[in-house]
Amino acid sequence: MIGNPIGHTKSPMIHGSFAEATGQAIDYRAIEGSLKCFADEVHAFRKAGGRGMNVTAPFKLQAYALATERLERAELTGATNALKFDGDRIVADNFDGVGLTNDIQRNLGFPLKGARMLVIGAGGAVRGALLPFLAQQPTLVVLANRTETKAIDLAKQFAGQGHVQGCGYDELAGERFDIVINGTSASLKGELPPLPAETLRGAKLAYELAYGKGLTPFLRLAQHAGVPKLADGVGMLVEQAAEAFLWWRGVRPDTRGVIDRMTIPLV
Ligand code: NDP
Repeated sequence: MIGNPIGHTKSPMIHGSFAEATGQAIDYRAIEGSLKCFADEVHAFRKAGGRGMNVTAPFKLQAYALATERLERAELTGATNALKFDGDRIVADNFDGVGLTNDIQRNLGFPLKGARMLVIGAGGAVRGALLPFLAQQPTLVVLANRTETKAIDLAKQFAGQGHVQGCGYDELAGERFDIVINGTSASLKGELPPLPAETLRGAKLAYELAYGKGLTPFLRLAQHAGVPKLADGVGMLVEQAAEAFLWWRGVRPDTRGVIDRMTIPLV
């Protein structure tokens, strides 16, 4: 795993648990990268025998650029969170979106097919989630973002994949959704996106992409609006790790025990 800062990462623990459970021998470490030397750091890791690498902020775009091959999800998102090394080939994929989709559907039990979804934010994580979401055939995905043009542009880019619309927060008044996802980074600063509280009424699930923060301002708003199920992004984190592990090792680890160990009660 390469990122900066990287001290907080849970990935070595997650992959260590997967390796133990599946009988795989791995040496998974956190590397604190630098923007100037990112490519050299990746090449040094490969030369030392590294077979695959997770990539986190702020290197997801650089990893995309460094890859010699990009799988569809990486290509469409313009970012990668996982690399695989095979001789001279550097293959890029992006498992964030599939991890989120798996968590919502398999772990939390909310089918996306036929759902009306609101996704707030239009940054890298939301971009990565759109293709896996739309593949499940929701009735509608509305993207709302503080910088409205980003949401509109993103919706246009994915319009061929399903029913997706971009807008600003003001246009949400009076709309109702089954699933509301906070894909902004507002919670990392303890902030609340300017989401009209009424937009959450009637929703069945409120999902916060940030994890380990307990009841964030967004989840608190959802709780007050009476949303019956609240979740944070710990399941997404573990599910994307499981997809990467499968890609690298050919075996899909069970995620339930790891998610349970990492879950912080949302109180
Ligand atoms: P980006 O920096 O790419 O995008 C940030 C987004 O948040 C932008 O749309 C920005 O709007 C919006 N935003 C930031 N602050 C506010 C605010 N105060 N009010 C309203 N909107 C705001 O971030 P990422 O997409 O990489 O990450 C988004 C979230 O997803 C983070 O919380 C991150 O921790 C989480 N994440 C979780 C993962 C997991 O495995 N659980 C994996 C990856 C990310 P604007 O365009 O107007 O600036």
